[in-house]
Amino acid sequence: MLAVALAAQTVITPPNNRYSIAEDLQLGQQAATQVEQQLPLMRDDEVTSYVEGVGRRLVDAIPPSLQRAEFKYTFKAINVREINAFALPGGPMYVNRGMLEAARNEGEVAGVMAHEISHVVLRHGTAQASKATKYEVGSIVGAIAGAVIGGRLGTVVAEGARFGLGASFLRFGREYERQADIEGAQIMARAGYDPRDMANMFQTIQKQSRGSGGPEWLSDHPDPGNRSEYILKEAQSLRVEGAVRDTGGFEQLQMHLKRLPPAPTTEEATRESKARGTRPTISGAAPAGSVEPPSPRYTQYAEGERFRVSVPSNWRELPGSSAVTFAPPGAYGTVSGQSVFTHGVELGISRNETHDLQTSTEELIDSLARGNPGLRRASGYDAISFAGRRGLRTLLSNRSAASGELETIELYTGQMRDGSLFYVLGVAPTDRFRDYAGVFDRIVGSLRIND
Ligand SMILES: [Zn+2]
Repeated sequence: MLAVALAAQTVITPPNNRYSIAEDLQLGQQAATQVEQQLPLMRDDEVTSYVEGVGRRLVDAIPPSLQRAEFKYTFKAINVREINAFALPGGPMYVNRGMLEAARNEGEVAGVMAHEISHVVLRHGTAQASKATKYEVGSIVGAIAGAVIGGRLGTVVAEGARFGLGASFLRFGREYERQADIEGAQIMARAGYDPRDMANMFQTIQKQSRGSGGPEWLSDHPDPGNRSEYILKEAQSLRVEGAVRDTGGFEQLQMHLKRLPPAPTTEEATRESKARGTRPTISGAAPAGSVEPPSPRYTQYAEGERFRVSVPSNWRELPGSSAVTFAPPGAYGTVSGQSVFTHGVELGISRNETHDLQTSTEELIDSLARGNPGLRRASGYDAISFAGRRGLRTLLSNRSAASGELETIELYTGQMRDGSLFYVLGVAPTDRFRDYAGVFDRIVGSLRIND
């Protein structure tokens, strides 16, 4: 039967974290509410009880040193086609139907779920947020929800975490991925699964990603390098023998899924949730009334030594967004719980895997476009000098889905020393843009980054 040798296994230490356990729970619950408003849960007993069964088995196998009585693990299936799964801080986990359909046995399903559970027990979501400055994240709920809901398709991302910052914000880095792989392998072994099935599932996902669309899971959980190799090595040290591939029900589950009407794509599903009116609204939508013109006097905002920027003195710093926004009175408000603005600037950091400046900028524009179907390029790139570094400036136009109004967006991008992308978005209605272009230039000209 099963034998698990504990001595040789790799010890994983959770990264530093400025958040409390209670905050993990709270943030996860808030993000879960958004997820469940926007994505179609499978309310199908056979599917739910299967996913819960595998999930419980894994949770029971979390090593005692990492168990948290406060965490509430829940397991739900989402009726969408993409191969994906995600877990939120404090325990809510979601498995896409596409993942259940692509797996070849229960061990593979368990592999992905064990990886996700490991992100939760190691508290990677809030550990990642602990590294952020307020210029990256004001309220991380939108960022978490954006990262998990939107992934690469991100129709909801740009709205949950305005303009798509969240999409890249909580995508984990290589070290957290490696930790989740190793911890996940150990949890699998303790639960009686063969950790090698995790490596197999990652290969299945990789094969699928060569097809059109490509699984979102890989872009949210990038391969730290040699993924299969070190998982297999860890599996050896765990010496699992006679592991279960199927605790019962996997084949029945897949047959059951085949009898159901095919799952929609995430994009189709979120479009439907928009039609039902549950989707929050984007920029350019709501605020009514007159907008004060920008004051000719400027006020400096600073965050410690890291950032300084000057904005017209009648503009306010808006809380609750995933980046920092400055906007004049009358130009901002709240729609469906999301803060929106029609005139102003947003500053943020997009943590991409390192690329050259133009590639990173194009990725950012793509993520904006996924959340804003009316977004178009309106110019090429101008090379500029930006916060003491080389930068790019480009114009975009967007027809607001909500108000139908045309807005112009001036996007400035530059790179931080660590390769992540720093951006400033200036937004104004197109018919007023001429009055704002000089203001955006002056704001960008005042920006200092100490990295
Ligand atoms: Zn991961």
